[in-house]
Amino acid sequence: MSINHYKEAATRATQWHANYREEMMKCRFDTIAVHGIYSMQEALDFNQGSTIEPIYMSASQAYRDSDEMEAALGYEIPTWCYSRIANPTMYYMEGVMAMLEGYGSGIETSCIATSSGMAAIQSAIDQFLVVDTKRPSAPMNFVATTQVYGGTYQQFSMRKDAERAVEWRKVVNSNDLSEWESLIDENTRFLYGELPSNPGLAFFDLKEVSDLAHKYGIPMIVDATVASPALMRPIEYGADIVIQSVTKSMSSGGSSIAGAIISRKNITSTIDNPAMKADFATYLKLLPNRDNGPNISPMNAFMALNDIRTLRMRMDVMSRNTQKVAEYLETNKHIEKVAYLGLKSHPLHELASKYMVLVDSEYDELYGKKVNRYGHLMSFNVKGGAQSARNVFDAFSRIWRATDLGRIKSVATIPAISTHSQQGEEGRKMANIPQNLIRLCVGAEHPDDIIKDLDQALAILDGKKVFVTSPEYSAGGASSATLRKGKSGNN
Ligand SMILES: *Cc1c(COP(=O)(O)O)cnc(C)c1O
Repeated sequence: MSINHYKEAATRATQWHANYREEMMKCRFDTIAVHGIYSMQEALDFNQGSTIEPIYMSASQAYRDSDEMEAALGYEIPTWCYSRIANPTMYYMEGVMAMLEGYGSGIETSCIATSSGMAAIQSAIDQFLVVDTKRPSAPMNFVATTQVYGGTYQQFSMRKDAERAVEWRKVVNSNDLSEWESLIDENTRFLYGELPSNPGLAFFDLKEVSDLAHKYGIPMIVDATVASPALMRPIEYGADIVIQSVTKSMSSGGSSIAGAIISRKNITSTIDNPAMKADFATYLKLLPNRDNGPNISPMNAFMALNDIRTLRMRMDVMSRNTQKVAEYLETNKHIEKVAYLGLKSHPLHELASKYMVLVDSEYDELYGKKVNRYGHLMSFNVKGGAQSARNVFDAFSRIWRATDLGRIKSVATIPAISTHSQQGEEGRKMANIPQNLIRLCVGAEHPDDIIKDLDQALAILDGKKVFVTSPEYSAGGASSATLRKGKSGNN
């Protein structure tokens, strides 16, 4: 076969897949989440009819002949070559993520999956932290909110600012547009914000900040992990690039770590690299990430895919449960403060209401109109300081003590001693994370049971004793213990 033969076949296939995606984009969010880009035709022709996306646990792809290999390695035909670059299971995950982030916007998007949310952040921002041919010796900087995930804070402050002299210009009050603008100069490479932020629930007017970025010719990057595309899709409001820690809301099952970068076509940037700007995520996938290697494994891509199917319903239920729990906590005498964007008492409630809407709620027969949903992340401050917070935390029995977020099971952590311990007292002060703050992510249990657990844990501050006992062995070990006694059922 000739290279041309393969190229022509590739053109036909690319067109077929583009048409299929276009048809899928006419469907509602849930339909896209459930089916993604995996069609019955593809199942029958290539995957023995497998009704769900197969896991391609293969490091590389074989070719029919040298012509096909040459065309593939030259990126002239759709290929996955080698799983560091691409892989069919990754491709299915990337396809659905791109469609969900672009949903309802009419904007064309693409996606690259990564091994973790942190890898997504690093590979996204590194594209802008390169030599600027127009100003090769100018020191670079970026402007980003201080209220970010603890790992992001470390990546920005240690790996970029301290180790590589890439200045992180910190936005302390992200809701103040003039503060953002005052930090931008001709060496600013991008604006970055986490929305809503973990755990502080900072929120800013995304449309205004995106417009500001574009006024200076630079991209707006948004970490929208906490909201997920079921509640907010930043690209619709002008963001160029979206980061997802797929580990969290996207896949509540909690079995694996995964990340993703979703970009619009033709992003704004001062860097002179037309291919990068035209299709950021695809460029990143085929070139820089090929060379750097922060790819996702097919197994983890598959785990994420399976969870993504139920994203909207989960985010709805978990948001409603969190609302109920937050309202309960507001009435408890041991609580100094409850922070949840769904509470009217939250200073950013109104702003968040502009952006956080349950996708397709107007087509849901339960609602019939657009309804706000504020996600699963909340926090509360316990009266009496650090020790009181620890005592309450230690008394949880249904809520899991874990540095985790967006789970189908309720989880809580004390950020000052866990996720945000490394940034130190000063950094925490700037990000507004005191010692008595408990971060709680409410899951899909019945909210009454979570309230009951909180109630008994808070009662410890009244001097009530909570007895937390543990069996000495797991139930799974019981039978072997019986056997060791030598008295099995035979006697
Ligand atoms: C957890 C988290 C990350 C990092 O994601 P990993 O998948 O753990 O690497 C980034 N941003 C936010 C908001 C997070 O909660």
